Amino acid sequence: MPQPDNGNYVMRRICMICGTALYLRVMSNDAGYYIGFYCPQCGPYSRESDYYSSREEALYALNTNCWNY
Ligand SMILES: [Zn+2]
Repeated sequence: MPQPDNGNYVMRRICMICGTALYLRVMSNDAGYYIGFYCPQCGPYSRESDYYSSREEALYALNTNCWNY
């Protein structure tokens, strides 16, 4: 049985370090651009998507709520 709520439940998550609400944003590192949770207090928190070669691609995936991990 596939998980019916796969994808949506991740929209709300709390930082385990400081308890602040996290939000999804496009971030980048040496490997490329990706969608992940960002903590306003602690910085980049987790990676939730594959890497994209450009910020535009990652932003499009985020805005359409459609990405692969
Ligand atoms: Zn935090």
